[in-house]
Amino acid sequence: MTRLKEECGVFGIFDNKDAAALTALGLHALQHRGQEGCGIVTFDEKNFYAERRLGLVGDNFTKGKILEKLSGNYAIGHNRYSTAGNNLIKNVQPFFADLHSGGIGIAHNGNLSNAHHLRKELVKNGSIFQTTSDTETIVQLIAKSKRSKIVDKIIDALFKIQGGYALTILTNKKLIGIRDPFGIRPLVIGKLQKSYVLASETCAFDIIGAKFIREVENGEMVVITEDGLESLKPFPKIKERPCVFEYIYFSRPDSIINNTSVYEYRKKLGAQLAKENHIESDLIIPVPDSGVPAAIGYSEEVKKNVELGIIRNHYVGRTFIEPTQQIRSFGVKLKHNINKTLIKNKSLILIDDSLVRGTTSVKIIKMLYNAGAKEVHLRIASPPIKYPDYYGVDTPNKDELLASKYDLEGMRKFINATTLQFLSIEGLYKSMGYAKRNSSYPQFTDHCFTGEYPVKPIDVNDKDFMDKQLSFISSKS
Ligand code: AMP
Repeated sequence: MTRLKEECGVFGIFDNKDAAALTALGLHALQHRGQEGCGIVTFDEKNFYAERRLGLVGDNFTKGKILEKLSGNYAIGHNRYSTAGNNLIKNVQPFFADLHSGGIGIAHNGNLSNAHHLRKELVKNGSIFQTTSDTETIVQLIAKSKRSKIVDKIIDALFKIQGGYALTILTNKKLIGIRDPFGIRPLVIGKLQKSYVLASETCAFDIIGAKFIREVENGEMVVITEDGLESLKPFPKIKERPCVFEYIYFSRPDSIINNTSVYEYRKKLGAQLAKENHIESDLIIPVPDSGVPAAIGYSEEVKKNVELGIIRNHYVGRTFIEPTQQIRSFGVKLKHNINKTLIKNKSLILIDDSLVRGTTSVKIIKMLYNAGAKEVHLRIASPPIKYPDYYGVDTPNKDELLASKYDLEGMRKFINATTLQFLSIEGLYKSMGYAKRNSSYPQFTDHCFTGEYPVKPIDVNDKDFMDKQLSFISSKS
């Protein structure tokens, strides 16, 4: 099965006369979370309106016709990211459905670990799916609930789904935000004058001048109506376990998580990397833009300037959006060029935030040597990614992950670096402010590095497990 992997960005705004335009701006600020498709659903107290497009927000939701169609003071929006084969318009969100109880729009960041199984059950019981997205499973479950109130129907559905999710949902006159019980995917609350705003990251508030209020807690459901914001806690309380990759790679450096900017976290990762793995060299250079904050932290730690040895062309998107491995490698060439006069005959420390398939490193190191670099010491500001993800991070199948295929020396040879070192897992926790990783209940969702998944990914061929799952579901409904 081709897995749908969605990291995505979500947004929502309640009671503002410029709801659609503000949503477009919020989505634009969240563009780094997904570039394949974008959409907005609005409600004008009578009708819902939905516009979904392939491509970037700025190329689609411009002033004029499309925004004029999205009338109403209530809106949600979505940026979609997916891997090969799934970039179809029908999978672009928010999804909209007319339920018995009224219209519902839903925007989802994350992945459900039991979506495949739920889908099979729903289809067996007569549901007709129109997309290949996990999110439609949630819509179908809400539609099937026997409860009368929409909030209860949603809670019913939440008890059946597993995995990582941040949702913004729009019903007639309710804006709802939800984070999964572990808080794997992020969601924050802001306010623009009287209007509540929800977004994946705080950078979406900055662009519209909204004030950041707080994060939605793990397992929390916030229901925004004209009476204000009500917080519901439908799940038994567990400790949060947010995705550490938000800190390492996904979130924009200017976003705030836990009262600290992502930029600060990344600098600390870089400083810790230097403490663990420094080597003398002529220059410290980042892979732009992903390695920049870590390289600054690294250079501060070793008291040596960071230089821009690689220049990035800002008019091409992230390498991962290209569908095939072959095109992905073109992507890297399109994106980066070497600052030749700077690096000629120099030994370099090259810094990036993460290494997944190795595509970026292979290309860049080759370009650096071609431009006359003497030595390239690659330093990665996170541990080796050995295990795939099931909760919305696009880290591919195990056999595509470089660190899963090779040991350190094998990886070094593959990317042709002079030396290669990663940040240790303990170093990662240290830089995040913890004395050590709690091995019985890790503070973060960090299975990409450790293989310890917060929710066991469902093996649809494991009959015992599936039966248990089904009885769990029916006991909750
Ligand atoms: P790779 O080229 O496959 O080794 O991927 C590593 C590069 O992609 C790094 O420069 C990262 O900043 C970036 N990256 C890491 N994780 C992801 C992800 N889940 N989606 C897109 N890009 C990523």
